[in-house]
Amino acid sequence: MSHPTILCIEDEEAACQQVRGALGKEGFELRFAASGAEGVEEARRLRPDLILLDLVLPEVGGLEVCRRIRGEMNVPIIMLTVKGEEVDRVVGLEIGADDYIAKPYSPRELVARVRAMLRRSALIKEAAERQKTLSFPGLEIDLPTRTVKADGESVHLTPKEFDLLYHLASQPRHVFSREQILEQVWGYQTRGGDLRTVDTHIKRLRKKLQEGRGDHPWSMATVWGVGYKFDVAP
Ligand code: CA
Repeated sequence: MSHPTILCIEDEEAACQQVRGALGKEGFELRFAASGAEGVEEARRLRPDLILLDLVLPEVGGLEVCRRIRGEMNVPIIMLTVKGEEVDRVVGLEIGADDYIAKPYSPRELVARVRAMLRRSALIKEAAERQKTLSFPGLEIDLPTRTVKADGESVHLTPKEFDLLYHLASQPRHVFSREQILEQVWGYQTRGGDLRTVDTHIKRLRKKLQEGRGDHPWSMATVWGVGYKFDVAP
């Protein structure tokens, strides 16, 4: 990552200039998107190393952009807020922004935050590469061999059941909507597909992994009105 790509989603030219001024000479590849919709498209196309996301955007607002991007990729997101937008800041962090920076900020502050975030995300990526086996008490999910053991016994899963389990368990406690699961586990071609497919697969996973076994600190949890998560007791 010698020249990390940074995507800045910001509708105001003056604010873009500020970002350019602060980060332009720091060896980053800077890309800009002037609306939320364009930002989501650019994020998909560029797969940037980091996203700077303005909170107040016309049409598709920053929070919605954050939610959409977060549903598709793990890129670190720094929200650009204005002092006083405290409530939105909290919501932003809840829906998956990694950090926020309040305008007006100093160029030095922005550079420091960006560098810190890139370092952190590089460490997380490294750890994820090493961790191809997910282990929880009474449950092991091995990606290279695509095998699952519950209480030490092999559990036979269909390919999609395995993909679904790995997808959820690789981000414990992260809530995925059924739409996201359908897109991410089944692929885009089933967009508009039947959301009940997700429900039936979850049901079967629960049956195979949980039923008839002792208590475990993890579960395939339903988040009412939203979707599912692989829950693990702290
Ligand atoms: Ca704005």
